[in-house]
Amino acid sequence: MVVFLISPECKFCGHQETLQHLFFPCHRSAALWVHSPVRLRSTMLRNSKILDCWSEICDQLKLWNGDSNYIQMTAFILWHIWESRNLCVQPDAQVDNLSSPMLWRPPPSNGLKTNFDAAADTSNCRDATAVVVRDDHGRVVDWSCKIWPHILDPHLVESLACLQAVDLAKIRGFSSV
Ligand SMILES: [Zn+2]
Repeated sequence: MVVFLISPECKFCGHQETLQHLFFPCHRSAALWVHSPVRLRSTMLRNSKILDCWSEICDQLKLWNGDSNYIQMTAFILWHIWESRNLCVQPDAQVDNLSSPMLWRPPPSNGLKTNFDAAADTSNCRDATAVVVRDDHGRVVDWSCKIWPHILDPHLVESLACLQAVDLAKIRGFSSV
């Protein structure tokens, strides 16, 4: 039997790890939220329980634009944070800290940069892909997310995310991506 000893401290900042801390006020998550299409200031949430935070976010999004895609995007980001944390607590993991050289780098002046990713939701037997387009100041210019109703081969779903990014650029007429 293999036993993994998991530190009670947050892998990203050393704070006591709770679900609420991990998903919202942790600096790593806060940076992700504020730069995401939902532009959430996760350190400003009033609630301290996960489900209450979820309701608070959904209420804000409904007031903001009523677009269910933003709620899907929120679920996708939560899942991504959880997956990222789990990868970091594995014994041979290397923390992708925000201060590392792997930070997002802007495109050349007046250009756009597209990032895409894919994730599998095994409990609901589906995949999700997301694309974010930012300008040279890091501002979100456009985005899209899709739910795929099956679990696909990981390489295939990554390819679909890439195709989604290309399609978005083509549809929007982005010429310098
Ligand atoms: Zn933390």
